Amino acid sequence: MKIEFNKSPNFNEARKRNIKYIIIHYTGMKTAKESLKRLKSKKYKVSSHYLIYESGKIIQLVNDKDIAWHAGISYWQKDKNLNSKSIGIELQNKGSKFGYHSFKKSQINALISLLKDLKAKHKIKIYNILGHSDIAPLRKSDPGYLFPWHKLAINGLAILPKKNNSNILLKNSEIKSLQLLLRNFGYKISLSSLMDKETLQVIYAFESHYCPEELDEFSVKRKLLGYLRYLISIKRET
Ligand SMILES: [Zn+2]
Repeated sequence: MKIEFNKSPNFNEARKRNIKYIIIHYTGMKTAKESLKRLKSKKYKVSSHYLIYESGKIIQLVNDKDIAWHAGISYWQKDKNLNSKSIGIELQNKGSKFGYHSFKKSQINALISLLKDLKAKHKIKIYNILGHSDIAPLRKSDPGYLFPWHKLAINGLAILPKKNNSNILLKNSEIKSLQLLLRNFGYKISLSSLMDKETLQVIYAFESHYCPEELDEFSVKRKLLGYLRYLISIKRET
């Protein structure tokens, strides 16, 4: 795997840090060239550790040991503002603003090689390889529903639930159970017992990552409870 270094000024030095998460993003910019410029811009103050072009070219902008500015206000499983504990990887994609499109095979293959390397190097648990939308569901939707988590799962780099075809709808009395499971799994969510805006956005983030086939439906299915219980049990075992 070839990695080209192209340094960004947007990072904090860390004397010693515990890298627990890898956060996957898409750039949401028209071209990789513009994305690279943005990730190095002193004005915008954003960066990531890596940027992967559609061709599969990998650029490293910040050393793994340093803190890149990619996650922003974020939360997962009692950890707040995940920049200090994570590595951020940006994938070039035009995103929802300029025309979200499926990810190229070459780009995903490069990502898989990089993830294998980082997972081994920093001893990352695969359930801590997350999307930006998982850790900031009210603000962010990247890497989005077209990101092929199933390909990562085949390579031992992601956990996914065992799918089933049941279409039974979630009852109102079960909303709190769903909120509790989402919270236990890692999402920041309040237990309102209501299908409020926050709950809908967290469900959207969950479905985009773990069961994108459910996004076509307007209703919330009861099987999400089973999916979450299964995912939580895998986390406990590993
Ligand atoms: Zn992002």
